[in-house]
Amino acid sequence: MRYVYRFSEGDKDQKDLLGGKGANLAEMTRLGLPVPPGFTITTDACRAYMRDGVVPAEVRVEVTLAIRQMEDELGRRLGDFHDPLLVSVRSGAKFSMPGMMETVLNVGLNDASVRGLIELSGDERFAWDSYRRLIQMFGKTVLDIDGELFSDALEARKREVGAASDVELTTTDLEALVDEFKQIVRTQTGREFPQHPREQLDMAIEAVFGSWDTERARIYRRRERIPHTLGTAVNVVSMVFGNLGPDSGTGVCFTRDPSTGRTGVYGDYLPNAQGEDVVAGIRNTMALTELETLDPASYAELMGCMRRLETHYRDLCDIEFTIERGKLWLLQTRVGKRTAAAAFRIATALVDEDLITMDEALSRCSGAELARLMFPQFDPTVERTVLTTGMGASPGAAVGEIVLDNEQALDRSATGARVILVRRETNPDDLAGMIAADGILTARGGKTSHAAVVARGMGKCAVVGADELDIDVAKGEVRVDGRVLHAGDLIAIDGATGEVYLGEVAVVDSPATVYVADGYDAALDHAGDEDARALVTAIDRVMRHADSIRRLRVHANADNAEDARRARQRGAQGIGLCRTEHQFLGERRKLVEQLILATSDGERQAALDALLPVQRDDFVGLLREMDGLPTTIRLIDPPLHEFLPDLTDLAVRVAVAQERGQVDPHDEDVLTAVRRMHEQNPMLGLRGVRLGLAVPGLFALQVRAIAEATVALLRDGLDPRPEIMVPLVGSQRELQLVREESEHVIAEVARAAGVTLSIPIGCMIELPRAALTARRIAQEADFFSFGTNDLTQTTWGFSRDDVEAAFFTRYLENGVLTVSPFETLDIDGVGALVRAGVEGGRAAKPELKLGVCGEHGGDPDSIHFFDAVGLDYVSCSPFRVPIARLECGRAAV
Ligand code: ADP
Ligand code: MG
Ligand code: MG
Repeated sequence: MRYVYRFSEGDKDQKDLLGGKGANLAEMTRLGLPVPPGFTITTDACRAYMRDGVVPAEVRVEVTLAIRQMEDELGRRLGDFHDPLLVSVRSGAKFSMPGMMETVLNVGLNDASVRGLIELSGDERFAWDSYRRLIQMFGKTVLDIDGELFSDALEARKREVGAASDVELTTTDLEALVDEFKQIVRTQTGREFPQHPREQLDMAIEAVFGSWDTERARIYRRRERIPHTLGTAVNVVSMVFGNLGPDSGTGVCFTRDPSTGRTGVYGDYLPNAQGEDVVAGIRNTMALTELETLDPASYAELMGCMRRLETHYRDLCDIEFTIERGKLWLLQTRVGKRTAAAAFRIATALVDEDLITMDEALSRCSGAELARLMFPQFDPTVERTVLTTGMGASPGAAVGEIVLDNEQALDRSATGARVILVRRETNPDDLAGMIAADGILTARGGKTSHAAVVARGMGKCAVVGADELDIDVAKGEVRVDGRVLHAGDLIAIDGATGEVYLGEVAVVDSPATVYVADGYDAALDHAGDEDARALVTAIDRVMRHADSIRRLRVHANADNAEDARRARQRGAQGIGLCRTEHQFLGERRKLVEQLILATSDGERQAALDALLPVQRDDFVGLLREMDGLPTTIRLIDPPLHEFLPDLTDLAVRVAVAQERGQVDPHDEDVLTAVRRMHEQNPMLGLRGVRLGLAVPGLFALQVRAIAEATVALLRDGLDPRPEIMVPLVGSQRELQLVREESEHVIAEVARAAGVTLSIPIGCMIELPRAALTARRIAQEADFFSFGTNDLTQTTWGFSRDDVEAAFFTRYLENGVLTVSPFETLDIDGVGALVRAGVEGGRAAKPELKLGVCGEHGGDPDSIHFFDAVGLDYVSCSPFRVPIARLECGRAAV
């Protein structure tokens, strides 16, 4: 096996092997763009390292060969005394994990080669600055020394000499700092800072591999659903220097605005600095456009590279670049992360530029992004006090208490408080706090700072670079504009405009929400500005395309007329699940009790007779809303005891009454019934079809109510389309019995009314046995609907209501599960049963209608599976209908 590839050997499609950074560096090299020479050590090497705990011996040899080749190409030797080659050692996994893993710059510098670097550059200050950066980064990331020790020493030195920023430190200051840093290494590790360039290189490579497995990297991967097994590649890149004076610098740019999606380049630049300074938000950056005046030639070349890359990748690219004494170098590119709004706008803009098709545009806009766009926004009409304004880095509206560090963020959010994490700047150590927070506010840094990039990735609202904020963590204070705020005070941040408000601010529907609920014109009216209007138009185009190509229909789960109306408004093409159990609650509970306690047919019939008209009214309302569209009504499903008083409560009440000699005979009867019906595992007990077969007249009542409601609407000239769904069927015979009874009732109602009624009868497939015997069950069914919630519970044998607390966290940590199977369908297990159900059902009846009505019906990943197995529709909550429509479209691309 080969572990090392030069940049000139790879390409962008080798992300598995070379990681994203390595693959794209190779691609840029192939395109002839100015990339410093270098090579990539593969993810195979990292996996071997994780397995064996040592870097494979072959890597050492291959690195030697690759370094020599680089040396020959550049005419410099690694760490040479006169003309040193220096390199960066950079992590880079298949999926970008911004700031999660380590990078070490300036590897190869030591007490001797720092003199060589002076010779080479003619700049003493620069050489010492580079050396102190190496010891600092190496110390922190490779030797595991607390980074604060270095930054504190740096701050102390700045204070001592009265320097406002690091640029003002002189050669002497930096030389002294190098000594100080070496001393820190000595005391912290008990050994000298390694002087041998190759030793530095090997240690750095191992450290980057090791950084794959840090706690924060694991947290990040769990969130982003990136498998822990992938490993990272390591890129060794010859150094170019942005800290060589005012004609040098470093920056990050985007080929379009990643925040709004507006057309036009976009970025931050920092003169006289090395790469990590921009991302770390150490100094405030200048806008990329200012580079045009500063260095027109490099700016023009950069514009050319950006156009080239965007055309090549046919998408928004983000780019890291460095200018060394007027010469432009590209250090990284990738298809850039973007906000949800930008995803829709950029995709449709690229269609207009004839760079991609509408199908491609659709596949680049996800349901998760649409969901994010439906988050609320601040009400533009309410009065509010602007505290200060920073840059909107990740849109959304967040209100919460000020917290100043991870600990406060976690503590307060654990109590249910909404919190805004307020930091001077964030770094990867703040990740836990960022996850816990509702919003993030920083005083430093640009739109490409750590806070901005990570927040955008999480879809979390963020405002950055609010430089009027003066944050004093020790005192727990934030001072701004003459005010003093404290941890715990409420503020609100607007991630689109960058405004920060004092106190609570009311929130309203977003344009996307208005669009899905009230349509295009209403949304355009509602949109506050040009960006919002452009977004509405982009969403509309993408949604129309999704609707025009999707194969799956989208139904909604709705239990009443109100929900049905909402679902229909959002584009639902039917009701996939109407639960009828709520129709037995509230005041009707008494009637149910009466039904259960009935000792004679007469008593039972009286209860049923009382329930009939109210049920019928429920169905009339629902079917009227859904006129002309299929409306699947599920017969009563939950265990009957849920309609009776709690056993313990009642037992106590009866015992107390007996004590006092005031026994209520009704209570005693109920207690007996509750005792009789008490079950150890009610979810596996008397419920669903079993209940229907055990309590005479119950299902018949519901069927009669449905049939009579249908007749009533037909008489009004409407087109009701009810379908009757039987829950928890496990055998053909169960369904057969219910069908016989139901058909009998329907025929009776039809005869009495003098109309013909054709009401399909089908069942849920939510038990493994049903899926496995689908072929037989289908004989009795007009349709199947996969109840994937129960099917997941019964397939795994765990109860949804209990697992989350008990062991899910553990299972997610140790990789038994990568995601909750109740959120995203477990395709290997539960999916196999769905597939068996589909195949069995269609084998018996090719025209059998198939749908799904679990939570999974609205989950993007699951929808793609349902499309692939050939269901006819998915059914989800009314609010998720637009998201499902979009995902069904993407599944069809
Ligand atoms: P990350 O993935 O956290 O962005 P990188 O490996 O990209 O880490 O490197 C961190 C910073 O150092 C970036 O700004 C990058 O541009 C810069 N950098 C990396 N390698 C070099 C190099 N060979 N010469 C100059 N700057 C570099
Ligand atoms: Mg980078
Ligand atoms: Mg169920």
